[in-house]
Amino acid sequence: MTRTDQDDTGTDRRLVLLVGLVVVCAGIAAVISIGDISTHGLPSFAELSTAAKLTFLVVVGATVSVQIRIRSTAHGISWTEVAFLTGLATAPTPWVILCTGLGVAIARVIVRLAPLKLTFGVAKDMLLASAAGLVLMQFGASGPTDRPLTELILPLAAAYLAVVVLDELLVLPVVALASRVSVRSLFSGHLDLRLASGIAHFLVILAILLILQVDINLLLIVPPLVLSLHLAYSSRLRSRAERHAWQQLARATDALNDVDLGQVLRTAVHSAAELFAADEVEVVRHDGGRTIRGDSATITSDGTGGEPLPGSGTTITTPLQGHDGIEIGLLRLWFPGPVQFSERERYTLRTFASALCTAIRNASAYAELTRVADEHAHAASHDVLTGLANRRHLLERGTEQLNLRHADGVAAVLLIDLNHFKEVNDTLGHPSGDRVLIEVAERLSAAAGPEDLVARLGGDEFAVLIAGLPAPAVATHRAEKLLAVLHEPIELDGMRISVEASGGIAVAPNTGGMSELLRRADVAMYQAKRSGQRLANYVPSRDTADLGRLTLSGELSRAVAEREFTVEFQPIVDLGTGVVVAAEALARWQHPTHGTIDPLRFLDAVERSGLLPAFAAAVLDQSIVAARDWHAAGFDLPVAVNVSPRSLLDASFPEVVLARLHAHDLPPERLVLELTENLTLSQLEIVDRVLGQLRDAGVRLALDDFGTGYSSLSVLSRIPVHELKIDRTFVMAMETSAEAVAVIRSTVDLGRSLDLQVIAEGVESEPQRLALWELGCTAGQGHLFARPMPATRMLAALRRGADGRPGALAPPLHDEGAVIRLSPGRRTGIRQTDRLPHLPA
Ligand code: C2E
Ligand code: CA
Ligand code: CA
Repeated sequence: MTRTDQDDTGTDRRLVLLVGLVVVCAGIAAVISIGDISTHGLPSFAELSTAAKLTFLVVVGATVSVQIRIRSTAHGISWTEVAFLTGLATAPTPWVILCTGLGVAIARVIVRLAPLKLTFGVAKDMLLASAAGLVLMQFGASGPTDRPLTELILPLAAAYLAVVVLDELLVLPVVALASRVSVRSLFSGHLDLRLASGIAHFLVILAILLILQVDINLLLIVPPLVLSLHLAYSSRLRSRAERHAWQQLARATDALNDVDLGQVLRTAVHSAAELFAADEVEVVRHDGGRTIRGDSATITSDGTGGEPLPGSGTTITTPLQGHDGIEIGLLRLWFPGPVQFSERERYTLRTFASALCTAIRNASAYAELTRVADEHAHAASHDVLTGLANRRHLLERGTEQLNLRHADGVAAVLLIDLNHFKEVNDTLGHPSGDRVLIEVAERLSAAAGPEDLVARLGGDEFAVLIAGLPAPAVATHRAEKLLAVLHEPIELDGMRISVEASGGIAVAPNTGGMSELLRRADVAMYQAKRSGQRLANYVPSRDTADLGRLTLSGELSRAVAEREFTVEFQPIVDLGTGVVVAAEALARWQHPTHGTIDPLRFLDAVERSGLLPAFAAAVLDQSIVAARDWHAAGFDLPVAVNVSPRSLLDASFPEVVLARLHAHDLPPERLVLELTENLTLSQLEIVDRVLGQLRDAGVRLALDDFGTGYSSLSVLSRIPVHELKIDRTFVMAMETSAEAVAVIRSTVDLGRSLDLQVIAEGVESEPQRLALWELGCTAGQGHLFARPMPATRMLAALRRGADGRPGALAPPLHDEGAVIRLSPGRRTGIRQTDRLPHLPA
């Protein structure tokens, strides 16, 4: 079995070198053979006749070959070696070598093989023949011999083996270089079939020799034998190649099933190169003109235009055509040398092209579908008029942003509301209104950062999601810059319309997500509107909307556990002298995210939660500790603590209070418990008992918000208190309402007759202070003197004092001479002057 190479156009220098080497060796063999023959003188007629027969045999053997195409290189497996091995066993070796060369040359010339390949084929087969001859010589079995066939089997087998091995050694590198396929895969390709055919060829050689020895006439059966063997072999080879090709085709068309057009085209290039052993593949699309090119491993160009395929070599072009006959592009295969496709290959190509056409159409349809879907998504997430994002999109983007755990910086939302937009709409008409909105949208978009998202929430409301702020404090600055672009009036048909806008800015909260952030910005925006400001920041304490949620679930218990409930103190002042005579403890919730929360916003929830005792204890503790500290600093002030009515239903409450007083070593008289009048509670026996115990222990009691309850007097008759606190609504109204003054006056009178301390709440101005004083009210608290403050600040304020008088928070109303002391049994420092002339009626 020898291989012949055809159509190899490989110009690799290594290839030429290898071929050259083989040719030189064959040349040497030829020269030696001719030399050997010429020593025997001129050849006889019989010798020439044998040579002719031998040459003929080689021509036939070399012609009957099976073709295998590897890329653009075709390789044939022929019967040449059967011819020259038979010859070597029957004729002198030099003759056989020369006849082999001549026969192969004739066979190759007939099929018009390229000169280089022809030379290599001739030289290689001459070398193989020489090698086989040498091996036979070693066994003394070369040339005509009468030795029985049995003795020839071993030498022949050895010679045949040498031929096969040398053949592989010479051909594989050459084919590998020419076709750029690895030697390894060439060697393993069809190895089983090659082995089988090798054995068959060898058996044929033995059969021919046997026939020659037994009866030369039987030689007639050799051609049919060879032919049937050859047909069997080539059909096996073909069916196997076909099966392989189908599998490859199935795989290749399968791989085209992709929704990504780019991927389809790339896969098409790679698998076509693989499937058709093409060196380059190009897919050209008629629409859009996209051309993609590459080989089985790489894409060399992808886009419009590109270099045309080389003019040399072979280009096979197939239209990409669907079953409907519409051509959408071309598939081009390029081979460096001349290539003729077999029927099967042509069919495979048509099938592949059709599959590719379908795949391209599917992927294009999918892309179109995706585009339409995207368009829909855009419409669903954008405002039609301005093209800005809508509320939904803002919520989605904002949520994404807030969920980015490692996002750079802080996110904030600026909510913008145009102030007089309705007037624009009403006076100039909706088209003008629309143009104003579009202009506002454009200005905001231009002013927003690349990371920001500008949205229209509806009507004249806009929002900007500001991302990546280095610090929360920067939010205001950014918001101001954004709002500033709306300053400049908008030109509309020659008119200049000024759009004023209010903005609210909020920084992303720790909890609640995007909807909470938007809500906060909304709260801030209304704050700005109400106060006539251009921009307002979200302030938790002004936000009353989230009360319910705040007091839900674990928030309160955490607040107790984490000591988030603190106490501030508001001084109670002698209205005449300005000296501080007591302090009221007011609870505060230091919420980790909402900041300081006022008691009216959480008290209800605390009372309902079952956490009231813990809360009350915390307030009591802090109040008592504060009072003790002031005392230690030289300020002997009682502390007033507000008590929830529900605490009075708790029989253990007095015990708790007294235990705390004891624990902190504060005399009971230094504690005032402020009670809100509550008829229902006051009628309960248990409340009487609780209050009785406390009072008996020396704790002072005050009736808070006096005058607001509808039966204050009846409560007072049941609950023996020491103090009355005039509700601040009366104080606030006393300058305008005679009724309020009447209530205050009767309260003061009541206090005097029952010997109770009367304290006015909510004193905010000097006239109020003076009027209260004139009515006989001696003590008061309110912003005029001090707002509630932490215990330590209170102490500092006491030390500093007013006018350099420690313990005073306001200058005295009158010179000390005008002051007369009343009821010496009352609380220290409380004084009252004569009534002053300008009392309200
Ligand atoms: P209250 O006992 O009538 O407390 C006086 C309230 O008036 C305080 O509000 C105080 O900050 C406010 N205030 C003081 N001076 C002025 C002023 O000049 N003008 C105006 N407009 N307001 C002034 P705050 O701290 O919000 O307390 C509200 C209520 O919450 C208290 O009313 C009290 O009933 C209750 N509370 C406060 N702390 C506690 C507590 O520890 N336990 C219980 N059970 N209730 C408490
Ligand atoms: Ca109070
Ligand atoms: Ca009050």
